[in-house]
Amino acid sequence: MQYKEIKKTGDKLSILGYGCMRYPRKNGRIDYERTENQIITAIENGVNYFDTAHMYPGSEETLGKILAKGYREKVKIATKLPIMNINTKEKMDQTFETELERLQTNYIDYYMLHDLTYSEWKHQQSIGVLSFIEDEKKKGRIINIGFSYHGNIINFKKIIEEYDWDFVMLQYNYLDEYYQAGKEGLEYASAQGLGILIMEPLREGMIINKLPNEASKLIENFKIKRTPAEWALRWLWNNPHVDVVISGMSREEDIEENVRIANDVKVNSLTEDEEKLIDNLKEEFKKSIKIDCTACGYCLPCPKGVDIPLAFSALNDKSIFRDIKTTVMYLITTYPNSSASNCTKCGKCEPKCPQHLDIMNNLEEVDSSFEKWYYKILCKIVKAIMFR
Ligand code: SF4
Ligand code: SF4
Repeated sequence: MQYKEIKKTGDKLSILGYGCMRYPRKNGRIDYERTENQIITAIENGVNYFDTAHMYPGSEETLGKILAKGYREKVKIATKLPIMNINTKEKMDQTFETELERLQTNYIDYYMLHDLTYSEWKHQQSIGVLSFIEDEKKKGRIINIGFSYHGNIINFKKIIEEYDWDFVMLQYNYLDEYYQAGKEGLEYASAQGLGILIMEPLREGMIINKLPNEASKLIENFKIKRTPAEWALRWLWNNPHVDVVISGMSREEDIEENVRIANDVKVNSLTEDEEKLIDNLKEEFKKSIKIDCTACGYCLPCPKGVDIPLAFSALNDKSIFRDIKTTVMYLITTYPNSSASNCTKCGKCEPKCPQHLDIMNNLEEVDSSFEKWYYKILCKIVKAIMFR
C-alpha cells in the first residue's frame, strides 16, 4: 500500500480509503461475517482509513464491533455529524456521544460536518457548532475536523476561508472534473494544505455499470487491458492533489482490485494516450447522460411516494442503453405508487438535492418518456406474466 502524508494533520494515510456505506448484505441485513473478513483483509493489505457516517444504517456499529477486536489503533476512523437533522447544540452533543458509542472508541480521527452547504454552515454556527468542535478537540475526542461537500465552488471557497479546517471530502471522478467544487475546488483546498479525500470515485457505480456501448468499445480496444474501475481510479491517483480515494468496496474482488491498483499506481504517470482515452470516455458519457443524478437519495422521502433517483436512473439507462429492458424495469418497479407522474410539484425535494437538479421538470421528462397511454396496460401485462 502507498501512503500520503497529509500536510495539515501529519498523518500518513493509505491512498485507498475504505467506504463503509455498502457492506455486503444477506437476507436484507448486513452480512457481518463477510464484512468482518473484508475489513480485516483491507487492514492486512495496508488500508488505514475507514469512512462511515451516522446516517449509514448499521455502518458505525458494524465497523466499531470489528475494530474493537484489536484493530482500532491500526486505523483512522472518519465519521460525520448529520447536520441536516441537527437543530440544537444538545442534539449535536448527543449525536456525537452516540457515534463514539457505536464505534466503540473514545475519539474520532477525522470528523466531518456531513454534506455542508453555505446556509447550513451559517445555521450550524448559530446553534453552537464552533464551540462543539473546539471543546471536543480540546478533550481529544475530535482529532481532525473537516466537511463533506456537494455544492458549488463559490460557497466551497467561502466555507474554507471562514474556518481553520484540517481536511475536506469532495465528490470527484472523471465525470465530475468541472462539476460541484470540481478540479478548481480540489486545487484550492490542496493549496491551503488541507487533506483531500475523494468520495464517489466511480460516480455511484455509473462509471462501471452504465458505461455507454461506445465507451466500452474504447476500453476493450485500448492497447492496455484494464477494467473501467481501474481507469477511473488511475485517473484520480494520477492527480498530485488527491490524498485518499474512498472506495465503497462490498465484494472481495473489489478489495483485491483496488489494493492491487493502490500498490502500483504513480502520480502523474498517465501517458498522453491514456489521458486521451479518458477524455474520449467522458465524451461518450456526455452524449448519453440526461440527468446528473448521483442517486444519493437526499431528496427523499417524497410525500407522494415518487422514487426520484430511480426515475432518473431509468431515464439515464434508457438514454445509454436504448433497450426495452429499461422501460420494463421502470414499469415494474414504480407502478402504481412511486411513478414520476405522481409528482404534484410541491417543491419539497429540490432544495435538498446537492446536485441542484431541476427535479420537477426532469420528472416531467421521465413521465413523458415512460408513462405513455399504454403505460398501465403494459404494466398490468408485464406483472401478470412475471407474478403468475
Ligand atoms: S416536487 Fe414532486 S417529487 Fe418532489 S417532493 Fe414534491 S411531489 Fe415529490
Ligand atoms: S435528485 Fe438529487 S438528491 Fe435526489 S437522488 Fe438525485 S442527486 Fe440525490
